[in-house]
Amino acid sequence: KTPVPSDIDISRSCKPKPISKLAREIGLFSEEVELYGETKAKVLLSVLDRLKQQPMANTWWITPTPLGEGKSTTTIGLVQALGAHLHQNVFACVRQPSQGPTFGIKGGAAGGGYSQVIPMEEFNLHLTGDIHAITAANNLVAAAIDARMFHEQTQTDKALFNRLVPSVNGVRKFSDIQIRRLRRLGIEKTDPTTLTDEEISRFARLDIDPETITWQRDILSSEWRFFFSCWIPTIVPEEDHNWTGSNRERLHTDVFSVVSLSFQQTQFDISVASEIMAVLALTSSLEDMRERLGKMVVASSKKGEPISTEDLGVSGALAVLMKDTIKPNLMQTLEGTPVFVHAGPFANIAHGNSSIIADRIALKLVGPEGFVVTEAGFGADIGMEKFFNIKCRYSGLRPHVVVLVATIRALKMHGGGPTVRIMSYCRTASSQGLHRGVSGSGLRRQVLLKGAVFSCALSDLTEGPTPSLLLLQDLELVEKGFSNLKKQIENARMFGVPVVVAVNAFKTDTETELDLVSRLAKEHGAFDAVKCTHWAEGGKGAIALAQAVQKAAQAPSSFRLLYDLKLPVADKIRIIAQKIYGADDIELLPEAQHKAEVYTKQGFGHLPICMAKTHLSLSHNPEQKGVPTGFVLPIRDIRASVGAGFLYPLVGTMSTMPGLPTRPCFYDIDLDPITEQVNGLF
Ligand code: ADP
Repeated sequence: KTPVPSDIDISRSCKPKPISKLAREIGLFSEEVELYGETKAKVLLSVLDRLKQQPMANTWWITPTPLGEGKSTTTIGLVQALGAHLHQNVFACVRQPSQGPTFGIKGGAAGGGYSQVIPMEEFNLHLTGDIHAITAANNLVAAAIDARMFHEQTQTDKALFNRLVPSVNGVRKFSDIQIRRLRRLGIEKTDPTTLTDEEISRFARLDIDPETITWQRDILSSEWRFFFSCWIPTIVPEEDHNWTGSNRERLHTDVFSVVSLSFQQTQFDISVASEIMAVLALTSSLEDMRERLGKMVVASSKKGEPISTEDLGVSGALAVLMKDTIKPNLMQTLEGTPVFVHAGPFANIAHGNSSIIADRIALKLVGPEGFVVTEAGFGADIGMEKFFNIKCRYSGLRPHVVVLVATIRALKMHGGGPTVRIMSYCRTASSQGLHRGVSGSGLRRQVLLKGAVFSCALSDLTEGPTPSLLLLQDLELVEKGFSNLKKQIENARMFGVPVVVAVNAFKTDTETELDLVSRLAKEHGAFDAVKCTHWAEGGKGAIALAQAVQKAAQAPSSFRLLYDLKLPVADKIRIIAQKIYGADDIELLPEAQHKAEVYTKQGFGHLPICMAKTHLSLSHNPEQKGVPTGFVLPIRDIRASVGAGFLYPLVGTMSTMPGLPTRPCFYDIDLDPITEQVNGLF
């Protein structure tokens, strides 16, 4: 058999049909589509109004094994099978990849082999700029917090008020955003000249407690782990030389006659982990997004009251920066079926699902007989749990089938197999790096062997000097590792939805191993389990999977959520930890305990929970494979994304700021200046 070419070579060998043609084929009107060149388009939300009466289609859902080998590839293979081979109306809804993995170790996220979204360069790089807009919006909030604290530090209440509500042609007027703040403060006046001194003070002074600021700066992410928490220089005007600032801002040194330099303590998150990304993924309309962008809580006042983006007066500007991001991006698969690429929160540190809006539009467009496959991130213990308990709770949509992707190598690793030996050598500072470092299956892998980090081809691991590590048939190991898949099947069934296991076949797998997993999966509660070869063969290789999923969609299901929102915060976390991860209990460390109390007092205790946990283990310890038992899950801290609508506990040492390996993918990425071709992506 001829070897499968690289992802980028396959992508480039196929000429996509003009995106306007695809838009027409799926029933969009030209005025509902904004073209971004020949291969991408944004779809306007007005289509939802037009199709208001159209019943929605079935929705399916998909999740990988904890090693994430082929979730996107299987999503795309499945829709290609349904659309191009079984002639059904289909849509795939996937996430936009982050720059970190693309330039780091993993490479892109357009799928792979003959199951890809094309053109993969467009998909993997800037797409239509949504993530850039999110970064800009996020950093505007950070700037608004710093500016406000600075001005409050240096001005009297009256002076602040006069600047916040300036006199224009002798008239003072509140803006709409300011009137909303007055209402929240219980001040029903609209004429600024009638406010009492006490009301002026309450209105003008947010009195942010610098120790409570939870808003981070955002970066698109590549190598910023060292900036996870840092002091950044800021310029302070000379007139404020005497200002000594708080813990957050300290006057440091004079620079020259007009300015001084201060250092400001701050933290960074990658854009895909930001609350604004989560808002985009969970919002249902422009109006709803505007409201959520105003509800984001950035800190508490010294009296302990929550301070929101609306209080900072920045919420309208955020909506302006974000207005185009809300329109899903239309692209296509290698076999010409439609794909929405929209929003891209990571699953381990954010909620990990593509957008509700894209799902909704896709469900309308395919019609009542059609199918939508929507992708959720990382291991089922986090991606699936959040899909149900957060995304389904907000959207009201109920999936008919869970497709659980499994690979033989991942199961061997969970069985404690040879991959673990490589894993234990592999240390990069980021859990992303560690994960992708050995388990991913692209062209290059970052491996640290005997103290030296190097990047190598997968074939070096499977066919090089230590080939047998991943290659040898080992039924015992597969069977042992199946314990993890079994738990994930049980977890999916806990939500009352039938499960189809897709065994994503690699060329190194043996038929006996593939058959073993299918048999075990069926014996342990899966509706069906099917071997698929869509990576090597395109949609044709996933026809059996598509048929199994079609059947499962007819099976009875009784969807249920895992916990009641009214439960105390700690109880909700405990339910997830015990039922999904198999923990004995949770331990709220002092900071987490304190935050649980603060958020409950501030009225946010009713929000759903978005666990920030490693996807490499069911527990908090990435080294613990299979189905760990007898552990207590440590909760280090809890943060609130009030606008997005969840509380997120930080589990163990989970970091919200990954980093690059020694030899990132960008070493191989270059531009041919003559042809303008992007080389080296995979
Ligand atoms: P995930 O979405 O789970 O992170 P992807 O679908 O992005 O995983 O796949 C990761 C990498 O693995 C891609 O480079 C893809 O080409 C490759 N891959 C996926 N399935 C197979 C397979 N069956 N054989 C070989 N490589 C595969």
